[in-house]
Amino acid sequence: MKIVCSICKKSIAEQAPYKDQSIIQAKCTDCINKAKEMLSRINTSPPPEKSRLETYANGLTGRISIAGEETGKISFGELGVSGRKFECFKDNRDEFCNYLAGIDSPEVDVMFIHSLDIKIDPATRGRRKKKKTEEPSEKETITYNCTVTVSKDDALSMFDEKSKTMKELVEVLAGVLHREWQAEQAGKDVKDKT
Ligand SMILES: [Zn+2]
Repeated sequence: MKIVCSICKKSIAEQAPYKDQSIIQAKCTDCINKAKEMLSRINTSPPPEKSRLETYANGLTGRISIAGEETGKISFGELGVSGRKFECFKDNRDEFCNYLAGIDSPEVDVMFIHSLDIKIDPATRGRRKKKKTEEPSEKETITYNCTVTVSKDDALSMFDEKSKTMKELVEVLAGVLHREWQAEQAGKDVKDKT
């Protein structure tokens, strides 16, 4: 049996029974990597006329833009760097460094989530019961991105800072879950004894 890539039709491997000429569809590593790369592509540079300039206390200037409209969407644990997004954690650091090394200019665009604007519709805010005839009101969250242009060293510091924050966040969450689990176990014990 032949294992063939369903995208590029390249033969990946053969497996028993070898006389059987039927084909098993799979995806080759090249195609998987290409798809991964496509998914990680992101617009990190908002058009100047659509974004807002903001200067931070450290003197750095960033451009604020609306995620999904003027720039791409990233999550809290990610950074968008010159057209590509990265999840910031230790295992991705080498890939991040390689990516930076492959960029010709000394400075790169780094995009991160700046803030969220959650719009709650008046009906939910007032806890009024919605009339059935009412149009579904728009409840939306606007995510604002900030893009700063920094040196590659600074970009790496931002990556490290983000992975540290994410690690701490994971530890905090794990702690909360553990305490909840302990409380639940304690509750069970009480129940068992009664
Ligand atoms: Zn392929």
